[in-house]
Amino acid sequence: MRKIDLTNFQLATSETARQINRRIALNFIRRNEPMSRADLARCSGLQRSTVSAIIDQLIDEGWVTEGAIGQALRGRRPRFLHLNVERAGILAVDLRPAVTTVGLAGVDARFVEQTSWPTPKDPDVFIRQLARTVALFRNSHPRIVCEGMGVSVPGRADPSGRLVFAPNLGWGPVDLKQPIEAAIGLPVALENAANACALAELWFGHHPEHVRHLVAVTVSEGIGVGLLLNGQLVHGGGAMAGEFGHVSVDENGPLCPCGNRGCWERYASNSAAVEHYLGEAGGATAPGQAAARGTMSFEELLRRADTGDARAAASLERMGRFLGIGIAGLITGLAPEMIVVIGEVTAAWDRIGPLLEGAVKKRTLPHAATRIVPTVPASQPRLRGAVTLVVQQHFGAPLVA
Ligand SMILES: [Zn+2]
Repeated sequence: MRKIDLTNFQLATSETARQINRRIALNFIRRNEPMSRADLARCSGLQRSTVSAIIDQLIDEGWVTEGAIGQALRGRRPRFLHLNVERAGILAVDLRPAVTTVGLAGVDARFVEQTSWPTPKDPDVFIRQLARTVALFRNSHPRIVCEGMGVSVPGRADPSGRLVFAPNLGWGPVDLKQPIEAAIGLPVALENAANACALAELWFGHHPEHVRHLVAVTVSEGIGVGLLLNGQLVHGGGAMAGEFGHVSVDENGPLCPCGNRGCWERYASNSAAVEHYLGEAGGATAPGQAAARGTMSFEELLRRADTGDARAAASLERMGRFLGIGIAGLITGLAPEMIVVIGEVTAAWDRIGPLLEGAVKKRTLPHAATRIVPTVPASQPRLRGAVTLVVQQHFGAPLVA
């Protein structure tokens, strides 16, 4: 039960019940398509007449199509309802310190086009380049009507869309939402990359419907944590919740771009593993920047470990153990049903997975039952997360009371 927030509430109107039932119907079709109106009435408990009114409206608005005629043992043969995944074109942006990826997808988060370019050092240049990419996409897909953009950012954005904390990006506090909206002429939703990944897992992860407590850990130049508890993202004060990457585990440890020493991500991130391999741990003048600035890529470290470089393997194994130490804290403190690990490191799961699990087992309570799941990098979770930011606006539960 949620306490009513008297500073931010929504009064019930005669529309409210209809809105809620419409979303429930739309979600049943999304999950179970193809399905007939009779199936929908059966599994939702809505009356047949209500189902028909809702479906007629969803067809009118282009969300649902009525397709092939199905089989029935007797009586009228039903027509199947499908979700129209082309109803809305969604632009998705995965902004990372070294590379930005931009994609165009339908509401099923399947990409019809995508491209990548080096992330400019100046946010104004970034916005101009993004606008050019969007114009190119729209030119090559004139039939797709784009309705919005989701951006996953390597930091925290406040509710107004201002990037407030992104130490690995090095941009400082900067307004992103409004300038991008002005440049592309579409609404923009901005979210921390780990939060976006947690949402993508909830909406597109093929997990059981009952999963409501899920934590996403994005491992890249830094470490981000997205908290999805009771089925909702946890933003915290100033939208800063989830910065476990900057929880210090050793006050005398290596300097971190955030200004503190010994943060978790200085031991368990891609850049930490590369720095350790290069023998820079503790002595780097620009901490966290070695991998991002091209001294040596994390992919190169993975490749060297695969080709028998024992030092590379040891750096990855150390990273795995430190990931486990931090994840054990998340499990004990939050008891999620699932922790999803996102990042290039999942390609080396054979090597680091057992070490990570071992470190977790040693440190968690005996009855801890959290599953730790590496994502498939090919599914592009950060980019898919950016799509989800727009998708959830159509399929999420309406705000009531
Ligand atoms: Zn830090």
